[in-house]
Amino acid sequence: MSASPNSTPCQEHLDALRDAARRLLTQEWPPEQAVAWAQTDSKLGSAWQQVARQGWLAIGDDAELGGLDELMLLIEELGRAACPLPLVESYTLHKIAKKQHDCTELHRVASALTTGQAAVAVAIATSDGQNAALTWQTELGKTHLSGQIDFVEGIQLATDFLVIDEDAARAALVSATAAGLTHVATPGYAVPVLHRLHFESVPATVVPYDSSVGLLMRLGLLMRALGAARRTFELAVEWAKTRVQFGQPIGRFQAIQHKLADAATLLDASTLLIERAVAAVKRGDMDAEIQIACAQAYAGPAMRRVTLEAHHVFAGVGYFEEHEAPRHLRRVHADMVALGGLDRACNLLAEAALERGGLPDIHLSPEADTFRAEVRAWARTLNIQPQLNHGSGADQLATQAISKGLIERGWIGLGWPKTSGGQERSVAEQFVFAEEIAYHGISLGLLRATETIIGPALLKFGTPAQVQHFIPRILKHEVSFCLGYSEPESGSDLASLRTRAIPEGDGWIINGSKLFTTMAEDASHIWLAVRTDPEQPGHRGISVFIVPKDSPGISVRPMRAMHGGTACAVFYDDVHVDADALVGKLHGGWQIITAALAHERILMGAAVASVQAQFDQLLVAIKARQRRGQPMAEDSLVRHRIGSLAAQIEAARMLAVRNVQLVSLGKVPIAEASMSKCVTGELMERIAECAMDLFGTGALLSHGSPGSIGDGLFERALRLAIMYVVGGGTNEIQRNIIATVGLGLPR
Ligand SMILES: Cc1cc2nc3c(=O)[nH]c(=O)nc-3n(C[C@H](O)[C@H](O)[C@H](O)COP(=O)(O)OP(=O)(O)OC[C@H]3O[C@@H](n4cnc5c(N)ncnc54)[C@H](O)[C@@H]3O)c2cc1C
Repeated sequence: MSASPNSTPCQEHLDALRDAARRLLTQEWPPEQAVAWAQTDSKLGSAWQQVARQGWLAIGDDAELGGLDELMLLIEELGRAACPLPLVESYTLHKIAKKQHDCTELHRVASALTTGQAAVAVAIATSDGQNAALTWQTELGKTHLSGQIDFVEGIQLATDFLVIDEDAARAALVSATAAGLTHVATPGYAVPVLHRLHFESVPATVVPYDSSVGLLMRLGLLMRALGAARRTFELAVEWAKTRVQFGQPIGRFQAIQHKLADAATLLDASTLLIERAVAAVKRGDMDAEIQIACAQAYAGPAMRRVTLEAHHVFAGVGYFEEHEAPRHLRRVHADMVALGGLDRACNLLAEAALERGGLPDIHLSPEADTFRAEVRAWARTLNIQPQLNHGSGADQLATQAISKGLIERGWIGLGWPKTSGGQERSVAEQFVFAEEIAYHGISLGLLRATETIIGPALLKFGTPAQVQHFIPRILKHEVSFCLGYSEPESGSDLASLRTRAIPEGDGWIINGSKLFTTMAEDASHIWLAVRTDPEQPGHRGISVFIVPKDSPGISVRPMRAMHGGTACAVFYDDVHVDADALVGKLHGGWQIITAALAHERILMGAAVASVQAQFDQLLVAIKARQRRGQPMAEDSLVRHRIGSLAAQIEAARMLAVRNVQLVSLGKVPIAEASMSKCVTGELMERIAECAMDLFGTGALLSHGSPGSIGDGLFERALRLAIMYVVGGGTNEIQRNIIATVGLGLPR
């Protein structure tokens, strides 16, 4: 094991370390013994010696052996193996010792730790959920501790205690054999059991208080729980593939698929937030505590749900202690409630949001940051009111101003090749653009869909003549396409569509009807999916045509949608199109449709910025109001909701950003894009509901109504949110994709 602690270790090194750790733990801490051994001092002791020989206990002391990345990886592996060795504690002690050259006691313990001769338990006294009361008495240069600390872990191995008094900002080292120190077991959910420490004038060596101990301990809890949650989840997925009931693997049942799809999403988002928190601690960021709180506030409930859902998938077999599932369930629940748990984390986040100015930007690249600033500056000048529905034609002036601004700046076709009139901007820049316009409520209706869905599809699949004709017009907002996919009998099952195109002369005749074609009444063209080969079942006989909307035989019946815009029933009655209206290959339409949908789904992730905008408005409204004679911002229930929402928004952002990063690496996110789409859409529903819970009827009043909260923003947002859940492939369909494509469950 060799690495430098300050650089980011290469992936190969981490992979090799993970493999080695997993091999060692499988051998030294076999799953069938893990629970019994966790309660056996001698087994814990020999495992401690074993990991000392591997150099794990010198991490934090010897830079050659690695730093925080290596430590966190090992902790995750310990969580996975249900092996409760106090590794964060040893790292923490080394870190303190490094800063304190003249404390001989610290250095004695640190060097004994490295060889496995010592083990440290960290006893944290904090008013955040920890039952503790400590008094510090110093006389003639000697300090004695009296009082009690509850819920202390790792007492079986401990030769020394690092006592941290978070409220008093004091710390000390106490020998486990010190006079006056006693302990009592407090059995409960956690394995091994926790203990209550009693101090009766116990001699203590005062060491400098370091607030990073609390950060590291909380990070360690998160990582260990993540290891446990991921292990039980992986076992549940395997079980779903092999356990047969009613003549088929249970993983084919959609109830099981959707549970596991949700668990996969929760776990991935938790992992992204925890990794971000580790990176912040490593860099020593000012907001590292907030990043940890964010990970706790999201991953706590998320990982608990994952372990419970895994149990539901295992059913009977998982309910017995000989199975691995119960130990992971216990681990996750115990770790996620420790040291203040969810309540403390939400409160810290609420404080950051309400008192320190909201959620920070996510930095994707320096170019993306610069571009974001440019777009933001322009967006602010427009002063759009999202509740006005301008994108659907209700506010023509705003739409024209936006369109003009974009054309002048060349901000159409951002990612297209320069030879096609685009700007060849990176995916990250396209994403921040999408985020900024979503945040500022800028919507261009069909013009934006034409640019982001039809433009890329034309550039990829269109004939040279189609590209030459349409691309310059799209860049000038002179054409607008609506999407003619869904039919009365074909929604989610799009491949069953029946609208027919029959060859006639050198063209085609189209007959049939489409449903829910957004703003068809305003479009100049229809991007139409039709069946060209009725003999071919499903997706194989489908083609895509560009149909001018004013073609004879087309009739449009607009239907007013909940968000205020329209979607239409469109009827095709012997509509003629020329042969050159075909896009791509004959019968090759499915590839075009799915590629466009995947692209749409990735950009839909940027819609989380509109949730962020609502969140910011929610904060404004909370800060302006009182409840039962108190400022609403001080209400603990309100703070809990705000903290929890902040964490969920951050999780949705991280999932969306992951897609951007994958695309930037030349990969095609499929299950990952589905995860982001599900989380964002459902979060949109949730944030508007939160406004209603907090503000009551005022949040349900529309723009312009006296007494409306957020001037109708939340009321409109709730109407709009459903479209994000249903559109672009419903969230159930996304869960099917996550389960089958992402997890490999049987179709
Ligand atoms: C505002 C709005 C605008 C739209 N704009 C357009 C547009 O411009 N162009 C266009 O072509 N379409 C558009 N649509 C249609 C949209 O794509 C469809 O509504 C969507 O694909 C779902 O189809 P459906 O409504 O027929 O629902 P159905 O497919 O009938 O689904 C009903 C329910 O069954 C579930 N379900 C169906 N199949 C499965 C399955 N295999 N597994 C699990 N659950 C399943 C669904 O998730 C849903 O909960 C729009 C819809 C809305 C609401």
